[in-house]
Amino acid sequence: MKKITIVVAYGKKFVIGKDGKLPNWKLPADMAHFKELTMDKEAEKYKGSIVVMGRKTYESFPLKYRPLPDRHNYIFSRQEPRYQPLPENFYTHVVKSFTDVYWLSDFDGITSDLKIFVIGGAEIYKTSLSLQKDDVLFVNEIIATEIDGDFKGDTFFPAPDYNLWTKEILKEVSKDEKNSHSFQIVRYTR
Ligand code: NDP
Repeated sequence: MKKITIVVAYGKKFVIGKDGKLPNWKLPADMAHFKELTMDKEAEKYKGSIVVMGRKTYESFPLKYRPLPDRHNYIFSRQEPRYQPLPENFYTHVVKSFTDVYWLSDFDGITSDLKIFVIGGAEIYKTSLSLQKDDVLFVNEIIATEIDGDFKGDTFFPAPDYNLWTKEILKEVSKDEKNSHSFQIVRYTR
């Protein structure tokens, strides 16, 4: 079993999305944190890390930001024939299960030691949190940006019972002229 990490940002009531986009927050400090965390600077440059997401989340990124650079982008889709992520590139792979994620990441041993981050949306968080310890992959860590704001939204993080997890506050960021809200970056482990 390989341990994997969820990365998420939510406001009150675990809201994560609205109309296929992020809710109405503007947090460049959180974007910088996301980039630094998922780029895994310790890995050799050409290897990067793996970010796993749903097709809707991938398509929520403007074309010019796809795929997320220096990371292998794994995209969940059930579309047949195979979903073709745009723009065409070598860094996106389409998957249908976390078993696919595991075997693809293990392909030829090239990427087997890469960190795997589940980056949303709600459907993929839910599927990843249902993985069990005897599955090939298991979520043992959630890095959550907990934003001090009550946002309108239609998509929610399916938060597990955090009473069963250990909580550690990694960083507290205040609202300022660039960041619309204050937030905490919290690490939950089990
Ligand atoms: P997702 O991004 O989770 O994508 C859902 C799609 O993934 C499905 O339509 C399907 O694609 C594919 N999929 C889901 N489950 C499976 C499966 N078991 N097997 C194969 N394919 C699967 O969509 P959500 O609507 O849940 O989340 C998107 C929202 O979340 C957006 O508003 C986005 O901005 C937000 N978001 C927020 C984040 C945050 O941290 N605040 C992080 C990430 C997203 P297909 O239809 O092609 O078959």
